[in-house]
Amino acid sequence: MRTERREMNKLISNNPAKNYSRIGEVNISSQAEVKKKVALAKRAFGSWRGIGLDGRIKHLQKVYDVLYRNRKKISKLACQEMGFPIAQQEIFDIGDGFAYFEWYLKNAKKYLTPEITFQNKKEIHKVYFEPVGVAAVIQPWNFPFCQWSWAVVPNLIVGNTVVFKHSEEVPLTGKLIEDLIASSKLPDRGFGEGYGDGKVGEILTDQEIDLIAFTGSCRVGQLIYQKSAKKFIKVLLELGGSAPGVIFEDADINSAAEHIFGARFTNNGQACDGLKRLIVHKSKFDEVVTKLKQTLESKVIGDPLDPKTDFGPLVAKRQQDLIVAQVSDAKRKGAKVVIGGKIPDKPKGAYYEPTILTNISTKMRVWSEEVFGSVLPVVSFKTEEEAVRMANDTQYGLGSYVYTKDLKKAERVGSKIKAGMVSVNGINYVCPFNPFGGYKQSGIGREHGRYGLHDLCQIKTVAANK
Ligand code: NAD
Repeated sequence: MRTERREMNKLISNNPAKNYSRIGEVNISSQAEVKKKVALAKRAFGSWRGIGLDGRIKHLQKVYDVLYRNRKKISKLACQEMGFPIAQQEIFDIGDGFAYFEWYLKNAKKYLTPEITFQNKKEIHKVYFEPVGVAAVIQPWNFPFCQWSWAVVPNLIVGNTVVFKHSEEVPLTGKLIEDLIASSKLPDRGFGEGYGDGKVGEILTDQEIDLIAFTGSCRVGQLIYQKSAKKFIKVLLELGGSAPGVIFEDADINSAAEHIFGARFTNNGQACDGLKRLIVHKSKFDEVVTKLKQTLESKVIGDPLDPKTDFGPLVAKRQQDLIVAQVSDAKRKGAKVVIGGKIPDKPKGAYYEPTILTNISTKMRVWSEEVFGSVLPVVSFKTEEEAVRMANDTQYGLGSYVYTKDLKKAERVGSKIKAGMVSVNGINYVCPFNPFGGYKQSGIGREHGRYGLHDLCQIKTVAANK
C-alpha cells in the first residue's frame, strides 16, 4: 500500500477514501521556479497597485466568475483529495469560499478608502491603506477552496501580489485553481503558485517577499514567525485550536447537541476552530452524552462523494495514525469510550469512527493536544469558575462556544475565555465581516472584515494643510 507523497520530482495525490489509490500528480516546484514566480510577482506589483481598487475589483470579478462556473469540478476534486463529505463541503468550503469572495468585492472599498481622522479650518489628517508588496501565502488542506479564497482574495484586493502554496495534501485542487485563474486573464503574474510540501514552503519564505500569510500548525507557524522576524516583514499566523464548548444547566440541550454535532464533527472533525473539548454542567452531563451518542449512531460513514455521507476519511494515513495514538493514550489513562474509538473494518482508507470519550483527565493527549479528527472528550463541572478554568486550560485560543439561556452569563463567561471568537448558543461567528484569529498559540493577527483587510496593508498617516 503506497501512501508516500513524493516520487522523483512529482507530488502524488492519493485518495484517502479509496485505500490511498492514486488520483494524479503535479510537478514539484524547483527552487528556480519559486524564485521566478516571486520575481514575476514583484514585477507585477507596480501595475497591480497602479490600476487601483476599482481596476482590481473588475479583474477579480472575472476570477470569481470563472471559478464559480467550475465550482462542481473544484468541489469533487477537493473531496477526492482530502475526504470532506461533499454535501458538507458544498456549503462550508465552496459556499463559504464564494460568500467571502463576494463580500470582499462588495465591501473592500468601504474599508480601504482613506479615513479622515481630524480636520479643522487649517489642517486635514488622513489615514491611507497601502499594499505592502509580494505576499507569500501558505495554506493547509482542510478547507481547500476557502483557504485559497480567505487568504488570497483579500491580499489581491488590497493591492498585494501573491505567490501561493497550497498543501501537499491537495495539489490537484491547487493546480486546478491556478489554471482557472490563468484562464481568467488576471493581469500579468499578479498571482502564481508553487507546488510541494514544507520544503517548497521554506524556499518560498526564503525569497524576497514583503509579507507572509500562513495558516497551519503551531509548529510551522513558529518557524515562520522566526523567519519573518529575521526578515523584519509582516506576518499573519492562523494556527491550531482546541476550542472549548461550555454547556450550562439552563441551556436548551436539544439545540446545543444539534449545534455541537456540526461544530465538532463537520469535515470529519478537521476544523481549526472546531469544538474539541466539551465541558458540561454536572446536572446535564448524562443527558448531553446520551443525545450526542444517539446522534452519532444515526450518521453514515462512507464515500465522501456520496451526498448521503456524514463521515468520510481523515485526510491521510498519518492523520489516522495520530488519532489512533491520541485515543490509545486516553484509553490507557482511564478514558471510557462511549461510542467509536477505533478504525472501522470498512471502508478501507484513512477512516476513524466518530468517537465520544468520558472519564477524561487533563493529562490525556485528547485534552492537552489539538485533536484533528472526529473525537470529542466530555468533562463535567459544578461552578462557573471551574468551567472557565477548564475552558482556558489549553495552549490554544481560537474559537469557543457557550450554551446558556442567561445572556448576561454568556457575556460574562465569554469575556473570561481567552479566545478570538465566542459563539453563544450556536450563533455562527464565521462571517466575512467578522475578524477571525486567535489568542495564545492560535496565532497572530486577524483575517477578514475591516481588521483583516488592514492587517494586510501598510497604514500611512498624512497630515496636511487644507
Ligand atoms: P502544517 O503546518 O503541517 O502545513 C501547513 C502548510 O505549511 C502546508 O502548505 C505545508 O506544506 C506548509 N509547510 C510545512 N512546513 C513548512 C515550512 N517549514 N515552511 C513553510 N511552509 C511549510 O499544517 P496542516 O497539517 O496542513 O494543517 C492543519 C493545521 O492547520 C491544524 O493545526 C489546524 O488547526 C490549522 N488550521 C488553522 C486555521 C486557522 O484559520 N487558524 C485554519 C485551518 C487549519
